[in-house]
Formats: sequence, C-alpha cells, structure tokens
Amino acid sequence: MKKVCFIVSLIFVLGCQTQKFERPNVVFILVDDHALKAVSSYEGSLIETPNLERIANNGIRFDAACVTNAICAPSRTVILTGTHSHINGVVDNGSRFDPSQPTFPLLMQEAGYQTAMIGKWHLKSNPVGFDYWDILNGQGQYYSPVFMKSVNGSEPVNRTIDGYCTDLTTDLTIDWLDQERNKEEPFLLLCHHKAPHRTWMPGPNQLELFKDTQFPEPETLFDDFRGRASAVSTQEMTISDHMYLWHDLMVPPQEGATLEGPDKWAQGNIDRMSETQRTAWDETFDADNDSFIKSDLKGAELTRWKYQRYMQNYLRCIKGIDDNVGRLLDYLEENDLADNTIIVYMSDQGFFLGEHGWYDKRFMYEPSLRIPLLISWPDVTDKGSHSDLLVQNLDLAPTLLEIAGVEIPKRMQGQSMVPILKGDATPWRDAMYYHYYEYPGAHSVQKHEGVRTERYKLIHYYEIDEWEMFDFKSDPNEMINLYDNPAYAGIQNELNQKLKALKVQYEVPSS
Ligand code: CA
Repeated sequence: MKKVCFIVSLIFVLGCQTQKFERPNVVFILVDDHALKAVSSYEGSLIETPNLERIANNGIRFDAACVTNAICAPSRTVILTGTHSHINGVVDNGSRFDPSQPTFPLLMQEAGYQTAMIGKWHLKSNPVGFDYWDILNGQGQYYSPVFMKSVNGSEPVNRTIDGYCTDLTTDLTIDWLDQERNKEEPFLLLCHHKAPHRTWMPGPNQLELFKDTQFPEPETLFDDFRGRASAVSTQEMTISDHMYLWHDLMVPPQEGATLEGPDKWAQGNIDRMSETQRTAWDETFDADNDSFIKSDLKGAELTRWKYQRYMQNYLRCIKGIDDNVGRLLDYLEENDLADNTIIVYMSDQGFFLGEHGWYDKRFMYEPSLRIPLLISWPDVTDKGSHSDLLVQNLDLAPTLLEIAGVEIPKRMQGQSMVPILKGDATPWRDAMYYHYYEYPGAHSVQKHEGVRTERYKLIHYYEIDEWEMFDFKSDPNEMINLYDNPAYAGIQNELNQKLKALKVQYEVPSS
C-alpha cells in the first residue's frame, strides 16, 4: 500500500512539474491610447520608459504591430475574441459586447487556468470567463474611481476607492497575486489601465515632471491636408480647434464664461480629488495658467502652447504607467514568479501626438494604426530581440491559447505568434486588413477600410468613394497621396488585389 502511495505521489509531483513547465502564467498589461512615440524601446521616443524597457530587454519588441480598427472597445473585442469587428459585432464604441462568443480568457479558464481581470473593461456587458474581476465603471475616472468587483460569479459590488487610477489598478493587481489566487495553479491575469486616455489627468506622483520641458513639435503639426481625401480635412480632432481648454488642457474657465462641449463636465473630474490632491494639482497648473491667460495667444502660437500642455500631461500619464509596471515586475521578481510568467505589454491602439495637427486615433495612419507590443517569455523568447513581421492585435488570442495548450477555435481569424516568439521561421501575412466604422460619431472621421503591407498603404473612404495611397518608407509622415499616380499604377493594382483577397479571407460583408 505504501508503495502504491509513493508511486501515486511521484506521478502527481512529476505531473505538477510538467504542468508548471508547460503552462506558464500570463500577465497581460493593456494600456489605452499609448502611442509608439512614448515608449523608449522604440526609436524616436519623447521620453524614457525604463520599466517597459525591462520587458523589451527580457523578450521581443514588435516593430510593425498594428490594430484592425483603431478605437477602444472594438480593439478590446478583437483582442479577446481573435476576430475582426464585423465578426465579433463590436464595430464602434456604441456597440455592446456579446459575451456568449469564445474569448481566450474563457477558453483558458475552461482549461484550468485561474483567470482575473482588473482595470478598464469598457465593453458594456460584464466580463465572462474570469474567476475574479474588478473593473472600472465604463471609461473609468482618473481620481477616486469607481471599481465594480465580482468573485466566482458573485453579484457585482460597486465601490469608490480613494487614490489615482493607475496606482489603484496596480494595487488591486498585486493584491490579487498576493492574496486572492491559488498559488498552486497557473494564472492568466489581465491588468488593463485607463491611462493615458483623454482627459490625460496625471497622477500625484507625476505632477512635477516636465514642468520646464519643451517637447519637439512634429513636422506635420500645421498640416494643410492638401492632396489627400476630404475626410482628412473634415475630421474634428485637431489640437487647434477641437481640444478644450478646461476639459483637455487643465485651464479653468474665467468667471462668467459660458462652457461649451466637453468643458461642461470638466469640473466633475476635478471634484473627485481629495483636498491634498487638489492642492498639488493647483500648485502644478495655477501659475502657468495665469501667464497663459495674460498672454492671450492666438493662431499658431496658441496651437503650439496647447501641444506643449497636451504632451506634458499625456507623458506624465505614461510615466505613471511606467512606474506602476515597474512595481508589478518587481512583485513578480521578488515572489519567484518571474521565471515562469509571460508578460505581454500592448496598447489598444496608437494615438496622434500632434502629427497632422491631431490628437485621438481612428485614421489608418501610422501613429494610430501601430501599437507598442512587447512580450517576454522567459527561456523561450530571445532577450532583446525584435520582429518586423506584420502582427496584429487579432493575433494575441490564438497566441495565448497555443501557449496554454488550448485548441484554437476555427472562428478565430488571427495567427498564433508562438513561432515568432520561439525565433522560428514561419510563413506570415504580407498584408493586413483594416476597417474603421464609427461615422457619424465622435471626431467625425469617415468610415474607411484599407490594406497595409511592409511599405505601402491603400485606404478607401468608401461612403464618399475617395482613396489614398502612401509609400510610408519614402514618405513616413503620409503626406503625399499616390493614388492614381501613373508611376505607381502597378503597386496600386497589387494593393487593390490584396484588399479584395483579404476581404474574402476574413468574410467581410460588402460595404
Ligand atoms: Ca483606446
């Protein structure tokens, strides 16, 4: 009897060891609107992000990672389901996510992973496929945010937590790792930050940063949109005309002023601060606001001032993310988890940091289309490596399922990046499909679809039947529309064929 017990125990121990080896933990850090130009692992970054570099240095940096639809809720749904927007139904921010569809967390949960989701969810329906979730209410608030929590299917409970959103999301994430999970089983942990989403409110620990920094202006800050589709000039996302002084730039209204647009609800964001937070906030902005008001800037000078203030706060939010990613990495290292935990760092799409005079995203232009994507898989990915392959947010779900040893549903349209992570040669897509749907809607960006290859891009604003084509290797700012340029007729034809083929491959309904 003793002998049988011993053999059974031995099998159990070996089984556990095999399981530990085969099924690594996964921490997926998703941030909101993080531009490539604000990650120091990438060329031309405006700031240093040393903790994000820790992930990149320990793993792989993707240099041509793109989204399928550059807007928040749709991108989150693409990530969860591994399907394009026309398949998963979340085509714009007004859509509700149908939680009956398969997602990678649900499938990993069914396969025995403990699953937790903490932070920004923003999909209108509650999370499914998680043992534990603690999510921000809708878009969430930067100060004293409301979190809604459910454990093992319990009735969700709302509570307001004092503090700053990025810090709190990290606190809750570390608390789950430390106190809530079963330490004998592998886990999938989603840590989703609200920052650096508009209104770019920095945290108390970053307010002092960049006070005297002048950030370089993008070459296209004063783009006149000549030669491109009319959609480029009819949008409403310019720093000059569509960025609000109170809501977006922390300049309170003068007494008796009439508030317009988003400025009407700016006070609500400020009122969530504690007295100490409010004092620090006022000390940061008051003096500069006074001199700004006295200077009475107009035209280009006003746009320049707005750009600097925008960058100051946006990049402070990023520094808050970087500091908090550092805290999470420290926890993993100090608790013997780093060696068996895959870390994925990704943004739900890119963001315009003044290119073409814009903020926001939506357009299939490089600053919003491309995302930072860093993945470390200890003992598997080569440290400090990088890939130029055309991966997409669509590919994350199949990748994590393959890593977890779970069968990838046929419905998923992405491709597993596991061979790339292992450094193996693998056939990969030479063109990607993009489709933006939210029109009419916030920022008035026309619907468009398109194809991007390693060098070229073709965009069709199909409701107004206008086209653009760019060679972003020779024209990285995407200023010269090559569509119908006879010298590029062959390339145009090739891109058109690729677009048609991708629409057939992904079963896109005709527009
Ligand atoms: Ca976003």
